[in-house]
Amino acid sequence: LAAPQTLRKNGKVSVAGVAISSPDKVLWPGSGGRPPITKADLAHYYEAAAERLLAHVADRPVSIIRAPDGIEGETFFQRHAMTGSNPRLKLIDVKARTPYVAVVDVGGLAAVAQSGGLELHPWGCKPGDPETPDQITFDLDPDEGLDFDDVIAAALAVRAKLEALGLNPFVKTTGGKGLHLVVPIRADGRSRVTWDQNKAFAKAVSEAIKAEAPDRFTTTLAKKARGGKVFIDYLRNGRMATAVAPWSPRARPGAGIAFPLSWDQVKPGLNPADYNLWVWPELLERPDAWSGFRDAAVSLRPALRKMGVD
Ligand code: ATP
Ligand code: MN
Ligand code: MN
Repeated sequence: LAAPQTLRKNGKVSVAGVAISSPDKVLWPGSGGRPPITKADLAHYYEAAAERLLAHVADRPVSIIRAPDGIEGETFFQRHAMTGSNPRLKLIDVKARTPYVAVVDVGGLAAVAQSGGLELHPWGCKPGDPETPDQITFDLDPDEGLDFDDVIAAALAVRAKLEALGLNPFVKTTGGKGLHLVVPIRADGRSRVTWDQNKAFAKAVSEAIKAEAPDRFTTTLAKKARGGKVFIDYLRNGRMATAVAPWSPRARPGAGIAFPLSWDQVKPGLNPADYNLWVWPELLERPDAWSGFRDAAVSLRPALRKMGVD
């Protein structure tokens, strides 16, 4: 891994002004001849990927999966500020009992690494405005036993439906088993929709896709309804719901990254495991397939009307 040696002085590692304690702690074990990935490696990755990560994470409430002893130790989701929370993280009042945390800059990402934060799961809201959705996520979850080609076919079907509604879906790997389609929507003035409309729209679209190919898709959360199908999980779209951020690592074996793809990569042969923390310098050298994400946002209102959601 390309951990800049110059950052290590007297055995101490500092990233974006944040001291990283136990920099050599192994977070992901080595595998298949690849070296272990340490806490310092994670901090350096966050620093290098900061601009691309922050485009999708900054100033939204974020749930963080922490694994202070690495992925083989205990892992937990953190949503709220905790006593001793790093001052580099912002607190956001979301009318819950305690404030939620948000990352606003590279120092915040370094603080996440320092606390053993391996995954970032933001709300789908507008930066600085937790009450306003600005994207819709379709989380495609294949039944066990399906191949990844089935997920690819499902993603293309969902894409076609969304494009027919005048929307511009983007696609990413999850670092896990499925794919996410994410639709940027305008969140200003008369384009603004509520969380309930956002979720009702995602549900209506998912059910329409299922109705067209009930042998391939299900919209039922229960695992037993999945039998050989892809579950279109539209539940990522309500207030407080999260999805893993593009460029977030995953606290799973294989050290996958949720990687933003271009649609021409979504074809047989695509292997999500290729996008991982061992190869991050190479991944960041490529042009960002999602650089046009925000500019591709359109108002959801015409599509809401077409789907009969009000
Ligand atoms: P995969 O491709 O393996 O399904 P995924 O990230 O899509 O990876 P899911 O289990 O489908 O994993 O979950 C989708 C999203 O829902 C997650 O990215 C996460 O943000 C959110 N989520 C899932 N489970 C929880 C949970 N227990 N608590 C909070 N958020 C969750
Ligand atoms: Mn999923
Ligand atoms: Mn899911």
